Amino acid sequence: MYAGPVQDLIDELARLPGIGPKSAQRIAFHLLKLPAEDALRLARAIGEVKARITVCRSCFNVSEGELCQICADDRRDTTLVCVVEEPRDIVAIERTQEFRGRYHVLQGAINPIEGVGPEQLRVKELLARLEAEAIAEVILCTNPNIEGEATAMYLARLLAPLGVKTTRIASGLPVGGDLEYADELTLGRALQGRREVDA
Ligand SMILES: [Zn+2]
Repeated sequence: MYAGPVQDLIDELARLPGIGPKSAQRIAFHLLKLPAEDALRLARAIGEVKARITVCRSCFNVSEGELCQICADDRRDTTLVCVVEEPRDIVAIERTQEFRGRYHVLQGAINPIEGVGPEQLRVKELLARLEAEAIAEVILCTNPNIEGEATAMYLARLLAPLGVKTTRIASGLPVGGDLEYADELTLGRALQGRREVDA
């Protein structure tokens, strides 16, 4: 529809989550109007993040080194692990200042419709950490929606025979929502009020 490079940019933008063809066009034309230095700052930020950021080899959080800042911090309680779907959930939980353990990022949630099963998630890696790190409690902090609940139930059943205490954050979070949109107070209370799961 448009000259090659413009169409390429629109196509790339349209592949981003939450951006439809119309928004992609709007953003592309916004970038076209910007002074070159402003537009290139965005390109450079993408380049930097791809060059310098990897995933933590222990918890799969985003990281600048082999271990993320949280895993590398020896003041954190190593016996507690909070299982989340995405790195952005860690940011939400850290904001509550209610949790001093470590995390484990599943990199998604069970979603049969989209073909995501436990094998696509970092479940094996979680099991490997339980023993290696002498973890005493696993807190299931997946989102309070269908996929998050299904993932929490799956993990609770998997962990039950292993003798590790498994808890789920308390209800009170908006059902169907995402952790990252919960306010700090609500999320903090949900963490404090976590209960042991009967699998
Ligand atoms: Zn880490």
